[in-house]
Amino acid sequence: MKEDIKSLPPEKLAGFLAGLGQPKYRTGQIFAWLYRGVYDFDEMTDLSLELRELLKETAYIERGELLQVRRSRDGTRKYLLGFKDGEAVESVFMKYKYGNSACVSSQAGCRMGCAFCASALKGLSRNLTAGEMAEEIIAMEKDTGEKCSHVVVMGTGEPLDNYQNLARFLSLIHEKKGLALGYRNVTVSTCGLLPAMERLRREFPQVNLAVSLHAPNQSLRSRLMPVARQYQMDRLLAACREHGQETGRRVTFEYALIEGFNDQPAHGEELANRLSGMLCHVNLIPLNPVSETPWKGSDRKTAEAFKVLLERRGVPVTLRRSLGADIDAACGQLRLCKGGPGKVQE
Ligand code: SAH
Repeated sequence: MKEDIKSLPPEKLAGFLAGLGQPKYRTGQIFAWLYRGVYDFDEMTDLSLELRELLKETAYIERGELLQVRRSRDGTRKYLLGFKDGEAVESVFMKYKYGNSACVSSQAGCRMGCAFCASALKGLSRNLTAGEMAEEIIAMEKDTGEKCSHVVVMGTGEPLDNYQNLARFLSLIHEKKGLALGYRNVTVSTCGLLPAMERLRREFPQVNLAVSLHAPNQSLRSRLMPVARQYQMDRLLAACREHGQETGRRVTFEYALIEGFNDQPAHGEELANRLSGMLCHVNLIPLNPVSETPWKGSDRKTAEAFKVLLERRGVPVTLRRSLGADIDAACGQLRLCKGGPGKVQE
């Protein structure tokens, strides 16, 4: 079987090339082509003809096909990228003051089953490879003509349910000759798969960790997120505390405010008690509507009051504005799409 060359992290690519009798500096050359979005070995003009032939026989270059682009009034763009087996994933390009951020999907679909999230509606179709995840960024950079300075793995899927490909992806995009993204500009979000979370901390201590919390206690959390039954909130928060102590970096907690469910002052007090003294930051976001689910986001006033309560209790907090809601590109609105060229179905 041919090697998926775009999914090989630097040391693996070097090993693969060594197997073809090539010197190490070839790795950087090939990386540079791959991340410029070149899909044909013949276009890699600084490689010898002989090596190009050898590569054609032994490897292939993963390519995502841009099936759809939607542009929001706020500069956000949502992409639908299709892969050769007919799977397609959504990714989002966002403009911020500090730079451009790529929100990347890690799986086609998701099997975590969170009650309020569009990505969970049809379950998991399959894991994405590292090269496919990288393709999401390359496609955005090609379409916009701009670099992505930040990456958040917050699209569809649970990245820590696809750890091996995620780890490869992280080292791939960090590679200098490729996208050269600093780990500190990369954020991985998880619903709380504890063992993989701890592994990520050990292997990528500089990558930012975001944890989808969404509730101030175990009982409410487990009504929203089945994963909470497997990994209890006490253990999750203990691991987050430890994360801060070990890495010196704060954990971001995502908290979607749901009308009447987790947005009352008592919930805020309880949350503040649980997070007291922890190196963390809470990102509040009124739940975005997903038409198949009954949940409703809190109104602006309730959300503001929840934020003020946490602030008064000394918990660092931001109330986020939602980007891309007009094109269903906001948090929780990305979903599994199957499609071939010209026949995109949701
Ligand atoms: N599976 C990972 C990565 C997805 S990140 C995780 O759970 O963290 C997407 C973020 O959007 C998560 O915090 C998720 O809980 C949140 N989210 C899901 N549905 C949402 C909705 N309808 N409104 C706002 N946020 C939502």
